Amino acid sequence: MKKRRLVCAVVWLLLSALLLPALYVGTLADEAAADATDATDAKVIRTAAEFEALHGDGSYRLGNDIDFGGKVYDRYVVPASFWGTLDGGGYALLNFSVRATEEGAGIFNMEYETEADGTAKTDEEGNPIAAAHIYTVSNLTVGSEAHPISVSSTSNRLGVFAGYVADGSVLRFTSVTVYAEITAEGQQVGGFLGRTMPNRLLEQSLFSDCAFYGTVTGKGANVSGFVGYSANPIRFEKCLNAGDITSDTTNVAGYVGVTYGAKYCALEFVDCRNTGRISGLNCIGGFIGKGQYTARFSRSVNEGEIAASGTHVGGFVGYEKNTTDYLSGVTVSFDGCTNRGAVSSTSAGATIGGLMGSAYDSVRAVDSVNEGKVTGGTFVGGILGCFNPQQTSDSYKQNEVFTFTATKCRNTGELVINCTGSGSCGGILGATSWSGIRSVAVVDMCTVSGALRDESAEEKTTASRMGGIVGRFDKEVGELTIKNSIVSATIAGTAVDTVSGILGYTNATVNSDGSDTELPEETNPVVRRIENCLLLGQLTRGGSTEKTAAMATNYAGDGTLVNCFYLAGTAEKAEFGESGARAVTAEELSGGEIALLLGSAFGQKLGEETLPSVGGNPVLRNAAGTLYNQIHTHDLADSPFERFNSGSHTRECKICGEKVREAHRYGEMQDAGDGTHFRVCGDCGFETSHQAHTESYTDNGETHTAVCSVCKATRTEAHRWDENGVCVCGAKKAAVSEEEETTGTPSGEQETKPSHAPGIYLVIGDCYIPLAVVIVVSVVLLAAVVFLAVWLIIKRRKRI
Ligand SMILES: [Zn+2]
Ligand SMILES: [Zn+2]
Ligand SMILES: [Zn+2]
Ligand SMILES: [Zn+2]
Repeated sequence: MKKRRLVCAVVWLLLSALLLPALYVGTLADEAAADATDATDAKVIRTAAEFEALHGDGSYRLGNDIDFGGKVYDRYVVPASFWGTLDGGGYALLNFSVRATEEGAGIFNMEYETEADGTAKTDEEGNPIAAAHIYTVSNLTVGSEAHPISVSSTSNRLGVFAGYVADGSVLRFTSVTVYAEITAEGQQVGGFLGRTMPNRLLEQSLFSDCAFYGTVTGKGANVSGFVGYSANPIRFEKCLNAGDITSDTTNVAGYVGVTYGAKYCALEFVDCRNTGRISGLNCIGGFIGKGQYTARFSRSVNEGEIAASGTHVGGFVGYEKNTTDYLSGVTVSFDGCTNRGAVSSTSAGATIGGLMGSAYDSVRAVDSVNEGKVTGGTFVGGILGCFNPQQTSDSYKQNEVFTFTATKCRNTGELVINCTGSGSCGGILGATSWSGIRSVAVVDMCTVSGALRDESAEEKTTASRMGGIVGRFDKEVGELTIKNSIVSATIAGTAVDTVSGILGYTNATVNSDGSDTELPEETNPVVRRIENCLLLGQLTRGGSTEKTAAMATNYAGDGTLVNCFYLAGTAEKAEFGESGARAVTAEELSGGEIALLLGSAFGQKLGEETLPSVGGNPVLRNAAGTLYNQIHTHDLADSPFERFNSGSHTRECKICGEKVREAHRYGEMQDAGDGTHFRVCGDCGFETSHQAHTESYTDNGETHTAVCSVCKATRTEAHRWDENGVCVCGAKKAAVSEEEETTGTPSGEQETKPSHAPGIYLVIGDCYIPLAVVIVVSVVLLAAVVFLAVWLIIKRRKRI
């Protein structure tokens, strides 16, 4: 038995290797078949009564649209706890409404476990048992564009799917669209869910390809198009909030009104969009009203108007402050995000930003843009309104370095500040707030072209700080670096404002040795550095350029300017120490010289563009002193060819001086006259090594003719007889005379030609074996060896 198994195993292994790809295809086909079976196994729901009776788990699918006939539910549509898989099959739930007076209303009860009749289950002590489950809903529409469902409550926690989701639940919504008009007296109201609780398994909940259309109108806090109040980690991908969301109070957003629950409430948005109008009092954002843990945005867009009457207002996030003691590093990040919506507040004290209003933790923005007009308030920024890390009693924060970084970001939207006291307005960052905690802000490769204006009342007597990149860096303990950036925006302040092209104001106080006044230099260096920056926009202060600074005003702060430029006439002076920045003319700019001096982060298409830009085609200077673009078509005309190696020669580009490699341009094969041929590069004269002719022979009777198939060299010579009296041309010696035999011998120079047809051969001595024969023999030998080996193994096993 054992030997048989061994033989089987050997054969099986050989077959497996051969059949593996086929088997793989088979497995995929089986899986597809299994899916189909699952789908048909799902119980089909066709009526309102069947839908209302859902309970427990199991797999369900709608067989048609379900019309509830205008039925009004007072809390749940499905009163029993249901956590099965619901596949809408592309159908809709239509024509019903919810008029709740109790907390936690919605289609499903995701709060407590119940019996099938909806009676709450209790534990031994009589407490209700939380319905902690994985909820899966897909391919479903609720309501329709023409007839959105109506959902209302006089209480808290209201959502179309559930008002309250039990602690420990995971939510998975895929391709679900809701058309609803939602009104609530209370708080925690969402287009999908009112409130979620922490999911301590840290399994991310998911909304994928989901959309909310309609309105959510609240009187209380925490109101949004998806989840009013979330303590659950959620990933949103390819989702849309098109609903108008409004509340009389705080934490109002397109997706999540507020997050809460420390590390359980991380949010992620990928390819998501808000087009709804979001309005309320404080903490108002296109995606998140108030965040208390991490939020990461990728390739997402806000197009909705964000309108607040209070503070903390942003195109994406109104307010973020981490409330946990285990979080460090970047809290909110934007990657490839765009705000196009107008962001505004009617409050003179508002903190407001194109992407984000207030950040109390680290923020990173990369490749992100504000195009929307940002209006009103005290702290106004194109990307972030105020960076405000706080000294707290939390020990972990004592040593944390908080960062704000903006890389390759743009502000093209107008920024309008309208405040009563001393405000700040910056093209990228409105202000930082001093709090005795160390922070670092770096702005790199950013551009600001949207105008900055102070529209505060003319009689205003307190200065606002207007800066093309940063309005105010107001920290004694912190570092600010602004580099490789361009401000082409006009900046118009009132007669009392400080107006600067790059940094509006800083109050750093630095000791004579350069260290901070309060803390040791090695731990807390004070850095205010502006490097490789360019101002092109006109600065005015009460209508005049008087006391405007192209780079940074120098009221109380110290700082360094390195390699900066400004268009002459845009500002009265440069400031900081007045060295490191100089005025340049439009002619200098258009010639490309300044783009060159600014460095590799900048570009300017010479002869086409009159101004440098961030990115683009860098300007360089060649040995002759001429400027050229790094990306150009090499000019190789009239340049001498130089041999580089056997494969290529070089020519020198007249523009950049680079030796550009090109393949040799060979002419025809030439006969060297010595039995060999070669080729010559027509450009550089490089000659290839000589190769023996590849000749074929024609018997002419007395002589034969040899022709090289490569160079066509032709020669006629006497036959050369081998010992059998046969010539390479195939002629046979008729009558051999001693004389002929000797004279027929090839001359010393000529090689003996092989007596075989052209092709690939294995050569052993004088023996030429065709390749096909070699392969056949090898395969037969290999088979014999394998057979012998198997046979030996079997024989040995038999003996054992
Ligand atoms: Zn070149
Ligand atoms: Zn050549
Ligand atoms: Zn030849
Ligand atoms: Zn011959």
